[in-house]
Amino acid sequence: MRPFEYVSPNNKTQAVSLLAATWGKTEILAGGTDLLALMKDDVVSPRRLVNIKDIKDLQGVSSSAQGTRIGALTTLGDLVDDTRVRKNYPALAEALIEVASPQIRNRATIGGNLCQRPRCWYFRNGFGLLPKDESGKELVAAGENRYHAILANDGPAKFVSPSTIVPILIAYGARIRLEGPKGKRELALEKFFVVPKAEGEREHDLRPNEIVTEVLLPPAPGVQAANYEIRQKEAFDWPLAVAAVALRMSGSNVQSARVVVGYVAPVPWLSSEAEKFLTGHPVNQETAQKAALAALSGAKPLSDNAYKVQLARVAVKRAILKAASGGAA
Ligand SMILES: Cc1cc2nc3c(=O)[nH]c(=O)nc-3n(C[C@H](O)[C@H](O)[C@H](O)COP(=O)(O)OP(=O)(O)OC[C@H]3O[C@@H](n4cnc5c(N)ncnc54)[C@H](O)[C@@H]3O)c2cc1C
Repeated sequence: MRPFEYVSPNNKTQAVSLLAATWGKTEILAGGTDLLALMKDDVVSPRRLVNIKDIKDLQGVSSSAQGTRIGALTTLGDLVDDTRVRKNYPALAEALIEVASPQIRNRATIGGNLCQRPRCWYFRNGFGLLPKDESGKELVAAGENRYHAILANDGPAKFVSPSTIVPILIAYGARIRLEGPKGKRELALEKFFVVPKAEGEREHDLRPNEIVTEVLLPPAPGVQAANYEIRQKEAFDWPLAVAAVALRMSGSNVQSARVVVGYVAPVPWLSSEAEKFLTGHPVNQETAQKAALAALSGAKPLSDNAYKVQLARVAVKRAILKAASGGAA
C-alpha cells in the first residue's frame, strides 16, 4: 500500500484546483469500481486522490426541450431506473442493464464509465498502455492479442475502448462537458476518445486537471436505435464486440444513420462507411449485411483475433436490423 493524500472538495472549482497539471500525481475518485482496482494492482499510484462525490452540481438527470442532461456522478443504476431514459433512449437503457452486476451499477458513475481505463491485460499488469519489452519491442502484436483491436491498430495502441455504453451514447449523438482551470468546454462524445501515440498519453481528450461534469443527449423523437452485444458468456464480463445503431427513417428508406462499433479499436468506431451505405436505402437483410461489411472493411486482425472481424460484422448487421424493426422496446 502506497501512502496518498485524500481530499473531498464540495465544488467543481475546488476540485479542479486540487488536480495536478500533469498525469500521474493526482486521480479523480468517483465510484471507485475501476480506480481502486488499478491502485491495488499498483498500475496507478497517485499521490493525491480527489474524491468528487460530495459535489452536488455533478449529480442528477434533467430533461428539457433541448434534451437530457446527465450529471457525471449519476450512477448507472440510477440511470437505468430513470423513466425518462427508458422512454426516450430505450437502447441506452438496454445497454446499461448489461453492464456488470447490480452492485457495480449502484456504485459506478457515468463519468467514471466514460473515463474507465482499458481492460488490456498488459496494461492491467503494469506494462503500460502501449506495452513494450526491455528491448523496445511491442508486446501485443507478438503476444496474447485475442481481445485486442482489429481496427486502427497500426500504431502502438492495440487495446480496445472498454465502455459498452459509449457506442450507444455516440449513436444517439451525445456530447460531453468538461471543466478545468481554463473554464468549460463541450465536445461531441466521439471526439473525447483519442488514440495515444506515446506512453504517458491517455486515451481520452481529458487534461489531467479537468473533470467530466455532464453528458448531454439530444432529443430523440423519431430515432430508432438498437444495441447488440456479443459476449463469451452471460457473466460479469466485458463483451467481445458491441454495435450501436441509430436510424432516422423517411418512409421505408434510411434518412440518416449512426453506426458505432465497440471493442474493435482503441476508440469507439463511428463508421462513416456504414452510414453512407445505409443512407437513402431501405433496410433489409442484404443492405444490413453490406453495411456491416463496410463497417469492418478496414479491419486488420492481429495474430489471434481474426475471429473478431466476423463477430463484429454480425453485431453490426443485427443492430441495424433491430433498429429498423423499431429498435429497443
Ligand atoms: C466485474 C466488472 C464488470 C464490468 N463490466 C462492464 C461492462 O460490461 N461494460 C462497461 O461499460 N463497464 C463495465 N465495467 C466497468 C465499470 O462500468 C466501470 O468500472 C465504472 O463505470 C467506472 O465508474 P466509477 O464511478 O466507479 O469510476 P472510478 O473507478 O471512480 O474512476 C474510473 C476512472 O475515471 C476517472 N473519473 C471518474 N469520474 C471522473 C470525472 N467525473 N471526470 C474525470 N475523470 C473521472 C477516474 O480518475 C478513473 O481514472 C465493469 C466493471 C467490473 C468491476
